[in-house]
Amino acid sequence: MTTIFSKIVQGEIPAEIVYQDEWVTAFRDIHPQAPVHILIVPNIEIPTVNDLTEEDVIVAGRLLWTAKLLAKQEGIAADGYRLMINCNRHGGQEVFHLHLHLLGGRPLGPMLAR
Ligand code: 5GP
Repeated sequence: MTTIFSKIVQGEIPAEIVYQDEWVTAFRDIHPQAPVHILIVPNIEIPTVNDLTEEDVIVAGRLLWTAKLLAKQEGIAADGYRLMINCNRHGGQEVFHLHLHLLGGRPLGPMLAR
């Protein structure tokens, strides 16, 4: 367990955790890009989408399932939101512990900066 997100999962460093179960942990992004900006991470370390194996299919599905639950909990389900996973350099990934961004609470504009 070495990534900063693993330390959050283990409670070794503080974060505003909004959800945790046996598969995933969700907490508010330290530099929110929208009124709601939550990171949903597997409890086990999977560095990138490229590293997923078939054994990880359940945990990968739990990321999406948790996003659905949290969108409702945060009151943004009806208006809508964006789910995003960055991978490696071109994707702009900064933390190499797989995470799903849940963003919402305002219109988010075009999908990519021009
Ligand atoms: P990436 O670019 O890897 O997809 O996104 C990493 C995200 O993690 C960024 O939005 C960044 O603000 C967030 N982040 C980085 N370090 C921490 C931290 O220690 N705590 C929390 N809550 N978020 C973090």
